[in-house]
Amino acid sequence: MSENHSLLRVRKTDYICDHCSEGCMMYSGSSMVTATAVRIYYHRCEICGVQVAFPAAYPKIEYIQEANQ
Ligand SMILES: [Zn+2]
Repeated sequence: MSENHSLLRVRKTDYICDHCSEGCMMYSGSSMVTATAVRIYYHRCEICGVQVAFPAAYPKIEYIQEANQ
């Protein structure tokens, strides 16, 4: 066994509210699976409070491999 190091970049994707165009949609922590087997995630706008469901949770955090060292 040996250690293997990787440098990662973190990419954050926010979903800006379609209702007020100001707030970010924040995942509420609850989700459900639809009749068509798609998981939807409930969100609430941090500014206007509108509630919307999306097929992904926002803010979305992704780790992108940059290089090996
Ligand atoms: Zn809003």
